[in-house]
Amino acid sequence: MKLLKSLLKLKLHWQILIAFILAILFGIFFKEQVIYVSWMGDIFLRLLRMIVIPLILSSIISGLVNIGSGGSLGRLGLKTFGYYLTTSTFAIIVGLALVNIIRPGVGMDITSVAVDDSISIERPPISEVFINIVPDNIFHALASNDFLAVIFFALLAGIFISKMDKKNNLILSNFFNAFFELFMKITLFVIKLAPLGIFGLIVKVVAEQEDFGNMVSSLGIFMLTVILGILIHSLITLPLITRFIGKAKPFKHLNNVKTTLITAFSTASSAASLPLNMKETHENSGVSHKITNFTIPIGTTINMDGTAIYISAVVMFIAQAQGAVMGLQEQILILVIALMSSIGTAGVPMASLVIITIVLEVLGLPLELIALVLPVDRILDMFRTTTNVWGDSCCAVVVAKSEGEDLNV
Ligand code: ASP
Repeated sequence: MKLLKSLLKLKLHWQILIAFILAILFGIFFKEQVIYVSWMGDIFLRLLRMIVIPLILSSIISGLVNIGSGGSLGRLGLKTFGYYLTTSTFAIIVGLALVNIIRPGVGMDITSVAVDDSISIERPPISEVFINIVPDNIFHALASNDFLAVIFFALLAGIFISKMDKKNNLILSNFFNAFFELFMKITLFVIKLAPLGIFGLIVKVVAEQEDFGNMVSSLGIFMLTVILGILIHSLITLPLITRFIGKAKPFKHLNNVKTTLITAFSTASSAASLPLNMKETHENSGVSHKITNFTIPIGTTINMDGTAIYISAVVMFIAQAQGAVMGLQEQILILVIALMSSIGTAGVPMASLVIITIVLEVLGLPLELIALVLPVDRILDMFRTTTNVWGDSCCAVVVAKSEGEDLNV
């Protein structure tokens, strides 16, 4: 009892760290008992998912009505999209370069890979991904967690509320501001449950890894290549951009958003990490709601640096294992397709697999070979999601600084 009381008195990030370590031990030593605790992770994820769509809708609309129409919106939009496209391109180049240097797939015996016929991944054609950004029914889009369509609608609504006459503009602005405040308050409550939720999620991931040793040895070099790319991007590229373009302190900011990053790691979902990211970037690093409400929800869906590294690395890895030669032209094609298709990826676990099948198809590589990376996908998903979320948060800082905001970082 005393121990519990002192645990509750600890700061949230210490509680999460302890939960994390305990979860790994529990997952290893009490595999059978995992079902008794993993429900906490499921409930935590459900709570996060429960708030994410209303939060995206209200934060973008309230962000836009507070920015107001006209020049400042266009400027913010341009900076945000410019940042996202540039960083994702850097990420893909790092991914491609590493796979070219390390060549993890060369000489791999793919005949021993049992192709799992049960994998059926729905693959919408890439043109459809873009057409579907425009919802044909906004209520359906909201109910089916269609992030891109909801963002599209929220952008339209925010822009046109700003153009309404004063009386009605005020009613709707107040409504969406209040709506946003409500969901941020619920977010604060959910965050308090993070240590229990993260414990439940990590226990399950650890217990589900059948054979760590085997996994690490057969796909180890590939895993290391991806993790190296992710580390280079997260700890060198993004901090350099934050430092020199944003004129901010990247590692202080990293420390400020650590609960968000641990949540991204544990949930493997950028969407689930969105509420925390908005809270910590605003409260700890001092970015205004005006900027976080615009950059972070949009980044959650369209900016996926870790995913971009992963997609390019997997495709090259599969090509190498197949013995297919990927020249400069093909690699430029991979870059363009990975960039375009990562915009349409939802921030949910294992969403990249869908995109990878699209890229493989375009390049004429066998889709079944995706089975090669399936055993390590979940683990790598944790790393890439953390980078995805970190990239969004850095964008908020860079854009805020460029707008002259006075931050704590
Ligand atoms: N899980 C990733 C995210 O939510 C997407 C992916 O790469 O599968 O950001």
